[in-house]
Amino acid sequence: MPDAGLLAPCPCSGEGQGIPPLVLFGIAAVGVWLVHRAWRAWRKDGVFRMSKAWKIAIVVALVAVVAIVIINKQRVPSPTTDKSGQSAAQVSQPAAGLPRLLDLGSVSCIPCKMMAPILEELKKEYAGKLQVDFIDVNANAEAGAQYGIKLIPTQVFFDASGKECFRHEGFFSKEDILAKWKDLGIDLSAGSASPAPTFERLTPAKADDRPKDTVCSMCDGDINPKTLVVVKSAKGDVRLCGPHCYFILYSCLTEDKTDFEKKVSVTDWGDGKTVPLTEALFLYGADEKTGRPTIKAFAGREAAEKERQASGGNILAWNVLQEKELATRCGFCDRMVYPQDAARVVTADGIHTWGCCSHCALGVAARTGKDITVYQPDRLTGEMIVVRTLSGSVASLEPKTAVTWFGLRKAPDGKFVSAGCFHQGFFVSEENLRKWVEQNPIETGRLIPISQALADKMKLSPQQIQKACKIGECAPK
Ligand SMILES: [Zn+2]
Ligand SMILES: [Zn+2]
Repeated sequence: MPDAGLLAPCPCSGEGQGIPPLVLFGIAAVGVWLVHRAWRAWRKDGVFRMSKAWKIAIVVALVAVVAIVIINKQRVPSPTTDKSGQSAAQVSQPAAGLPRLLDLGSVSCIPCKMMAPILEELKKEYAGKLQVDFIDVNANAEAGAQYGIKLIPTQVFFDASGKECFRHEGFFSKEDILAKWKDLGIDLSAGSASPAPTFERLTPAKADDRPKDTVCSMCDGDINPKTLVVVKSAKGDVRLCGPHCYFILYSCLTEDKTDFEKKVSVTDWGDGKTVPLTEALFLYGADEKTGRPTIKAFAGREAAEKERQASGGNILAWNVLQEKELATRCGFCDRMVYPQDAARVVTADGIHTWGCCSHCALGVAARTGKDITVYQPDRLTGEMIVVRTLSGSVASLEPKTAVTWFGLRKAPDGKFVSAGCFHQGFFVSEENLRKWVEQNPIETGRLIPISQALADKMKLSPQQIQKACKIGECAPK
């Protein structure tokens, strides 16, 4: 059984272990020097006569040593009592007939500290259903040692008979803990004091009565006849609101893309005539406020040049435009994305990428296996929401009230499936989400905690991640 004192401290723990070695070395050096000077003075005079300066120096040194001893003593809690004042015997005694969650950690390591509010919440919300205990293994080494843990924090799950049924090492989110109890066949939710958020709308508040040929197959937005793009397919024409949605579609294809562009036609911005994609010229500009690209197609250079003089921008051939459009991708599903529309994602090792929607942004943690920070504005107000993950769980949420909308749509077989990236979003509060749903009568789905959205992504296999958001795999079209 490993000694609790030798447990691997969390790399990020910043655990206080008394006085740093360099300071101790300094104190020892000063001590040696003082003794040496005293010895020389005694040898020289035969008597050790203490000058006033010497007296002050020795008093200062003594006070410093006493202060350090006191500070150190305060840092090391008594060996049989943890922070909550429980003795080893108390914390290790399970209550009869209740499943029990035991967290072994310390009061100073960062993931351990992050566990503390979760344990408190579980203790309150599942009082009478679940026993929740914490052992500070630094303060209570004996109690920790008997569980044979290798690192902190470790959570041990016991069934009602006291038999260990699972253990987990590292930070473990509340949702993951509850999901694990469920997996273990122990239902804590029945009659729970705080049921999971339940807001949902699975039937649109208003039927989508727009004629089908005026709705973009990719984003469900209205099609402006001046920017219509048509893709010929075996199932008929696919109509898109503009070149940007075409390139999104192109980046989501899993089929062989050789000569795909030959199936595509665009609309001349000036005269509304249909032009094969490969023969068109594109006036590529940027929105002055947001920098978001604007694209207008033309059959001939003359019309394109006229519009360029009026509204600015550059004239590009289709293949140059394609290269530009495909350069920025979603870090989860690989779909092309404009940064102006996307969530910003930074991995723990400083790589910047994007999530084409809030759920995809969380998926970057699953695809890369790295801790990430997601910056995504509220879909209603634009207020920023920041999510930090740690080992595949939510480590922090700003603001704490933030929730996510999981857009769902009924598939032909009657089951609800993801409505696709355009129909997801973060909100700073449930209130904002409800307002947005009200303003968007066609949207269907449900509110879920952001931690659950992340957990859903972390469950995906590499094969599932590869298919994520691809045409035919995601939205039921
Ligand atoms: Zn569209
Ligand atoms: Zn994506």
